[in-house]
Amino acid sequence: MTAHPVLSKLGIATQRSGASAGEWLATAGEPIASLNPANGACLGTVLSPGIADCELVLARSLAAFASWRMRPAPQRGEVIRQLGNRLREHKSALGELISLEAGKVRSEGLGEVQEMIDICDFAVGLSRQFAGLTLQSERPHHRMYEQWHPLGPVAVITAFNFPMAVWAWNAAIAAVCGDTVVWKPSPTTPLCALAVQQLCHDVMRENDCLGVFSLLVGGADVGQWMASERRLPLVSFTGSTAVGRKVAAEVAGRLGRSLLELGGNNAIVVMDDADLELAARAITFGAVGTAGQRCTTTRRLFVQRGVAKALLDRLCAAYRTVRAGDPLAEGTLLGPLVSAQAVAQFRAAVALAKEQGGELLCGGEAPDLPGFFVQPTIVRAPCVPSAQDAFPIAWEETFAPILYAFEFDTLDEAIAQQNAVRQGLSSAIFTESLRASERFLSAAGSDCGIANVNIGTSGAEIGGAFGGEKDTGGGREAGSDAWKAYMRRQTCTINWGGTLPLAQGVEFPLG
Ligand code: NAD
Repeated sequence: MTAHPVLSKLGIATQRSGASAGEWLATAGEPIASLNPANGACLGTVLSPGIADCELVLARSLAAFASWRMRPAPQRGEVIRQLGNRLREHKSALGELISLEAGKVRSEGLGEVQEMIDICDFAVGLSRQFAGLTLQSERPHHRMYEQWHPLGPVAVITAFNFPMAVWAWNAAIAAVCGDTVVWKPSPTTPLCALAVQQLCHDVMRENDCLGVFSLLVGGADVGQWMASERRLPLVSFTGSTAVGRKVAAEVAGRLGRSLLELGGNNAIVVMDDADLELAARAITFGAVGTAGQRCTTTRRLFVQRGVAKALLDRLCAAYRTVRAGDPLAEGTLLGPLVSAQAVAQFRAAVALAKEQGGELLCGGEAPDLPGFFVQPTIVRAPCVPSAQDAFPIAWEETFAPILYAFEFDTLDEAIAQQNAVRQGLSSAIFTESLRASERFLSAAGSDCGIANVNIGTSGAEIGGAFGGEKDTGGGREAGSDAWKAYMRRQTCTINWGGTLPLAQGVEFPLG
C-alpha cells in the first residue's frame, strides 16, 4: 500500500511502531488499522505495544523525569516554545491528517492544530509564573511559604475526537511544570499520535531531553494498565463517562490523582428577546460542527415559546444549506462520523427519539454512501410536563449531530430543565436582557463548567480553565490555574531564630 503523501510530509510514511520512549521501539503487538471515515479506506497500520514495551516506556519516562524536574522551569518553557514553532511549521500537514483520520473539515483540523500552538504559547509564559504564596507564621523568626513541585510521569489518555489537541493541553502544561508525559491516544486515530510524537522526537533530541514525551498507542488494556500503575501519580483521562468512571475508580483505589474530562450534554437557552440570527448561527455551528462529535456539541435547545416557530424554521433552513462530503473539499461543512458503529448509534437514537414521541423536523437519515455520513438532525421533543421521563433519549450523549428542541415559558423552567441532566460541561443563553443573562450566570443559574452569553456551547479558548461538573468529571485543564493539577504543593516553614517555639503555644520542656 502506498502511504498517503501527508504521512511522508510528517515523516511517518513507514512508521509502524506504536510505542516511543524518545525513540521508536520495535513493537510486535496487535495491529491497529487507521481508517479514513470519509471513504472507509485504510490509511495505515500501527503495531500496538506489549506489556514489556509499556514497562520500558515508563522506566525511560521516570529516568527522564529525574533530570527534567531539575531543569529550571523557564528552560523547560524554551523547549515548549520550540515545539510550538515546530507545530507552526507543520500546521497544514497536521491539520490535513486530522481531517483524514478523524473526518474534521479542513478549517476545524487546522483549528485543532492552532489550539496546540496556542497552548504552547500559554505554557511558555506560564513557565515563569508558578507562584506560591508567602504566609504569616505565628512563631517569631519563622518564615512560611508554599511552593509547587512536579509530580512525576503523567498518564494522558485521550479520545478520538481531538486526536492531537487534548494531548497538547495536557502535555505542554505538564512539561513546563516539570512532569514527563506518557500518552495513550485513541486507537481510532493512531496516525495523528505518531505524527505529533515524531515532531516531539526532533525537539527532544535537539534539547537533550529524550523521554519527556512518550507514546503508547494501544486500546483499553494499555489504558487499564496506566490507571493501575502507581508510578503514574496523575492520570489525565478524556473520554466517555462510562470509561472515565472505571478509570477514576481504579486510580482512586491506589489513591492516585485523576483529572477527568468526560461526556457532555450541552444546552442553549434562547429567550424571546434574543437576536435570532446570532442564535441560529451559533446553534448550527454548535450542533452540526465536527459532525456533532465535540464534548461541547449543542445537543439540547430550549427556546421560549414566543420565538420557537421562528427559530426552528430558521434552523431547518440553515441545516438544508450545510454541505456534507469530503472533509478536505472546499465548502464542506459536515464531514463523516468516525465509524460505522457511530452511524448505527445515530440511527438508534433517531429511532428511539421518534418512539418516545419526538417529531423529526429535519434530517434523520444516514445516506447510503461510502464513508460514515449522517444528516444533521433536529427533533422536536414532546410537549409534556416531565420531559425527562417521557423523552429519556435527550438525557444521553449520542455522539452525532442530533439536536433535541424543547419549548419553555419561563427562564427558571429552562434553567431547571437544562440542569436536569447528569452531565455538566457547557451551556449558553441568548438574550438581550441583562437580568436574564445574569440570572443564568448566577449561583442559581447554569450548573455547568462553562456558561456563555450570546455565543454557543462549543469552541472554547485555551486561556480559560476547561472542564465540567457532575458526570463530566470535575477536571479542569488548559488555561487559568489548571496547571496546579499537574504539580504537588509543599508548605515550608523555616526557623531563622535561635529558639524552638511550638505552634499553638504547646510546651514540651526537656530535662
Ligand atoms: P472512549 O471513552 O471510548 O475512549 C477514550 C479513551 O479511553 C481511548 O483512548 C480508549 O482507548 C481508552 N479506554 C477505553 N477503555 C479503557 C479502559 N477500560 N481503561 C482506560 N482507558 C480506556 O471515548 P471516545 O469515543 O474516544 O471519545 C468520545 C467521548 O469523549 C465523548 O463522551 C466525549 O464527550 C468525550 N470527550 C470529552 C472531552 C472533555 O474535555 N470533556 C473532550 C473530548 C471528548
